[in-house]
Amino acid sequence: MFSQSDLKELFKRRRMPLTHQRLAVYGELACRRDHPGAEALYDSLRRRVPGLALATVYKTLKTLHEMGLIIRIDSPASQARYDADVAAHHHAVCTACGRIADVRDERLDRLPRPAVRGFLVRSCSVNFRGLCAECAKAPGSRAASKSRNRRHHNG
Ligand SMILES: [Zn+2]
Ligand SMILES: [Zn+2]
Repeated sequence: MFSQSDLKELFKRRRMPLTHQRLAVYGELACRRDHPGAEALYDSLRRRVPGLALATVYKTLKTLHEMGLIIRIDSPASQARYDADVAAHHHAVCTACGRIADVRDERLDRLPRPAVRGFLVRSCSVNFRGLCAECAKAPGSRAASKSRNRRHHNG
């Protein structure tokens, strides 16, 4: 995580002011472990940050991501999600409800870097997809019934 003075300096280099609203978006993301999307962040911030617009949250997340200060996780079940923890780690994504959990496994950090023509590979993050514990046990969950049907058809 970056301190307020780090952020101030980084924004200054970009010739952008670190507004109260931008700082609030980063601060909220930094204290959450659920990898929220823009709307979830907006929901928890709007009461505390008067005048905050959803568009500002989107724009701030985009800027922070471009600056390399946060990680973006694309989820098949929801809109883009974000993480203020930029240290090397991986994720498990629930394809039914969109829940995202951190995965820390040294073996994944040691994955061989493939040679990609015309590309300098610098880091790698693995997304595992499946069902979270709650969706796996929910009898009515779409993903669970889909896999039951498949098993049925296969005989
Ligand atoms: Zn789930
Ligand atoms: Zn994470």
